[in-house]
Amino acid sequence: MTVERQRLVVRGVVQGVGFRPFVYRLATELGLSGWVRNDALGVTIEAQGTPVALSALSARLRADKPPLARIDSIETTALPPQADALFAIRLNHSGAAAGTAAIGPDSATCPACLAELFDPGNRRYRYPFINCTDCGPRYTLVRHLPYERSGTSMAAFPLCERCQAEYEDPLHRRFHAEPNACPDCGPRLTLIGADGAAVPGDAIAATLALLRQGRIVAIKGLGGFHLACDANHPEAVARLRARKDREAKPLAVMVANSASLDAWVDWQPGDADLLGQPARPIVLLQKRPAAERDLPGIAPGLAWLGAMLPYTPLHYLLFHEAAGRPSGLDWLAAPQPLALVMTSANPHGEPLVIDNDAARTELAGLADAILLHDRAIVTRCDDSVLRQEAGRAQFLRRGRGYTPLGIPLSRSGPAVLAMGGFYKNALCAMRGDQAFLSQHIGDLDRVAVCLAQEGTVSHLLHLLQLTPQAVAHDLHPDFHGTRLAQRLADEWRVPAIAVQHHHAHIAAVLAEHGVDRPVLGLALDGVGLGDDGQAWGGELLLVDGARCRRLGHLRSIGLPGGDRAAREPWRMASAALALMGRGDDIAPRFAAESGAPQLAQMLARGVAHTTSMGRWFDAAAGLLGVAARMRYEGQAAMLLEGLAARHGPVPAEPGLYHAGADLDLLPLLARLADETDAGYGAALFHAVLIEALADWTATAACAHGLDLVACGGGCWLNALLSQGLARAFEARGLRMLTARQAPPGDGGLALGQAWVARHVLDQSGRA
Ligand SMILES: [Zn+2]
Ligand SMILES: [Zn+2]
Repeated sequence: MTVERQRLVVRGVVQGVGFRPFVYRLATELGLSGWVRNDALGVTIEAQGTPVALSALSARLRADKPPLARIDSIETTALPPQADALFAIRLNHSGAAAGTAAIGPDSATCPACLAELFDPGNRRYRYPFINCTDCGPRYTLVRHLPYERSGTSMAAFPLCERCQAEYEDPLHRRFHAEPNACPDCGPRLTLIGADGAAVPGDAIAATLALLRQGRIVAIKGLGGFHLACDANHPEAVARLRARKDREAKPLAVMVANSASLDAWVDWQPGDADLLGQPARPIVLLQKRPAAERDLPGIAPGLAWLGAMLPYTPLHYLLFHEAAGRPSGLDWLAAPQPLALVMTSANPHGEPLVIDNDAARTELAGLADAILLHDRAIVTRCDDSVLRQEAGRAQFLRRGRGYTPLGIPLSRSGPAVLAMGGFYKNALCAMRGDQAFLSQHIGDLDRVAVCLAQEGTVSHLLHLLQLTPQAVAHDLHPDFHGTRLAQRLADEWRVPAIAVQHHHAHIAAVLAEHGVDRPVLGLALDGVGLGDDGQAWGGELLLVDGARCRRLGHLRSIGLPGGDRAAREPWRMASAALALMGRGDDIAPRFAAESGAPQLAQMLARGVAHTTSMGRWFDAAAGLLGVAARMRYEGQAAMLLEGLAARHGPVPAEPGLYHAGADLDLLPLLARLADETDAGYGAALFHAVLIEALADWTATAACAHGLDLVACGGGCWLNALLSQGLARAFEARGLRMLTARQAPPGDGGLALGQAWVARHVLDQSGRA
């Protein structure tokens, strides 16, 4: 009988996810000898046996891999047979071991751990930190490489004898589960009351009692603290909004399972799967009228409800307590009435609170009690937000559960770092054929967020063991990211590369779709600095790698009052009236605004202009009386979308736009200025906008012989717009690419900057 030996190098997310015990069990079952170990590349296996058994090993590595593992490649080399009789797990003690191997993201409690959590006979019954190699925290507790317990915040908890035995047993689900813990040796919960003292008794029961009384409790999660309250308790929700200074922005709810949402949402195919992913994102679901009635004040006026399922044992225990501490798992399949508002504890736009001392000081005025524990959060990580769009998942915010998973690229290239934009900042590092988008960092208008950005740069580069050969940044000279990029580039003696905002939006889409040919880019956005120093945001671009040409733009419109114009749609409506030659209408129409007469004069004298799509949305909302002032970024456009969705589709009235090199929507706004039915007006605005953008783009596509349109920018979050344009492009023979793995808005900007920087390096290499 022939015996062969092979070396298999497995790359991907294969460390800290139970991969070695899986290989051990598989090899033993197939009668193979040899060994498996973690190393710098991922996992290396040497296996010896019959050709049939060896090919079964290769096939089943992919087919039966552990739930959290991701295999990017398996490289196989033939070796001469050796004299080993058994299969073994080898430990790699060299310091460089886990050098460049991927650390997995944080993952929700697995079914096996849930079964133990609710089994009164199990030693981890109701233990809030139960985990195994198939689940639990990863990225948020890693201080440094290699990924092992001593390099995580679990280093403070020496394993007890029984946990140690599990940790060392290759056949156990907890073999090398770095965060392994039990009630004897692991972290503990404490509930801190309003007086700052620990509340005696069962912390879970006491927390639930407070929530049911309408109190607000800060709860320590995986990537930071949440502020929680009972979503069915209108006064509690109102109090949370008042304390958090968040009057209207939508809040996310956590429920025990998807069945608990049936009354409140219209399920679309794929929604429930997305909700149940081990990453446990917040998923935006289509709201039914009952949601507005049962959950008042959660997402007022919007078409969407953001929901998520429990992802830590602690979350599960709150629902378990509310259900009366049932044994087993059956209760988790039935609808449960408890719904909790879970909103990031980031007071006043500061970074998410992650440590216990900060929680006690910064959350004191916000929360009535704090449920905390003594396992440190090393890396701040906000909840991810996704939704289904055209049958596929799309990120709105990328963070916990996905960071630091790489986004595959079509080819390899030099290592680059990109700093992202000003709002919804996230970084991107490219290494080899993958892009690593950092977790959402926040808006860089606070010193603490700028510092968090700097900290994330060092942590990301350390975890990836990366030395960038270029640092990309926005064109805007005053962003913290621009100054930081220039400082780091000087320090590393590499180029700093400025990338125009909308070029980067389109490039982000090209990066994730692996497109390397000239395309049309339709960037529909709030604002970004243009090549000419003006505020851009409604741009038709021709993008070819590092090159970007502006083919046309939305008609430019006055921006009276600068930043205030972007927050007060009545100002944009006034700018539109001035453009129509109806400046005299401004003061009477907006009589409630004390500044209206002065604004009319200001517009008559001349103000700065913008080509931003977002501001045209604001102008439409202002003219229809939907929103005079916004209480959060993008509110006017979201309310307009919600109104149009409730009204239902209408045909586009003819003659309401001019599409030449530039696109003029002023006739549409003139029509809306005299429309008294806001619902019809909102639907008409969407219908005409879709036709206008499709015609404009199709004309340019024809002129330049292109059929591919990459779509980027924050306005693509509008589902009516993106779905309508998908149909309109298809009808005109155009293929549309949209953002999926990175958010279409500024959260995905860094991916595009990094992609452009690589093309710049390519070009300078060739020159
Ligand atoms: Zn588990
Ligand atoms: Zn233990």
